[in-house]
Amino acid sequence: MLFESPLITAYALVVAALLGLVMGSFINCWAWRYIHGESVISGRSHCTSCGHDLGIRDLVPVFSWLASKGKCRYCGEKVSARYPATEIICAVVFVAIVAVYGLSLETVELLIFACILLFLSLTDIDDFLVPNGCIVAALVVRVVYMAIACALGQMTLADVGYFAGSAFAIGVALLIVVLVADKVFGRESMGGGDLKLYFVAGLYFGWQQGIFVVILSCVIGIVVAIVAPRRKEPSPEGIPECKSESAMKRVFPFGPSIAVACIITMLVGNPLVSWYVGLL
Ligand SMILES: [Zn+2]
Repeated sequence: MLFESPLITAYALVVAALLGLVMGSFINCWAWRYIHGESVISGRSHCTSCGHDLGIRDLVPVFSWLASKGKCRYCGEKVSARYPATEIICAVVFVAIVAVYGLSLETVELLIFACILLFLSLTDIDDFLVPNGCIVAALVVRVVYMAIACALGQMTLADVGYFAGSAFAIGVALLIVVLVADKVFGRESMGGGDLKLYFVAGLYFGWQQGIFVVILSCVIGIVVAIVAPRRKEPSPEGIPECKSESAMKRVFPFGPSIAVACIITMLVGNPLVSWYVGLL
């Protein structure tokens, strides 16, 4: 159990779930605004169909959507089930991270990283876009975490070197594979955003779990490619640079598969790699 008292454990998990619901709601809103070129920090939340400002009643995660039966209260237009789904996913991920890592510095780091992964999954699904801002934010969070962990004696400089080395090893190895594959197949085999994301995974998880992220994301990606409905082009309202030829050729976004692999790795990566290494 997380804490000695079951009551405090339950309390911590409920708080994590509520925080996850609220963050999921914010991420939905930010991702939509980012894709549509609106300011992420200013302006009131509004209906994406009629533009009517939303009140407190419309902004309660999941419950507002259920109460209005998945429709806008002002224009009656359908509101995608993706919004409550993202909120629930965020809540589940928050609860899982707190359950695994307790109340620690690492928990804070991973909660923020999970939010970044969720955000880039949404923008990638909508517009085949893993924003550079997400990569930079994830790197900054990791570097700040490592600096604080070193100052507190929870991490050594050797650990920092291991994670940095892992990031470069995975990034360079995949870059070579991608360049060769591009040459052989005569087309872009992987987006630059996806490559940067693998670099980030190496920095967060080290090379052993980083390799696990690569393999797992490929398996998830293949399953998604088979199961998901095929789309030929990004959403019509997408921002212009997303309509590049290379984006057009990509039939499905790969970012969410890497994001899911990263989240599974942060939850079960340690015991899984120990088990795997034990087999050798
Ligand atoms: Zn509306």
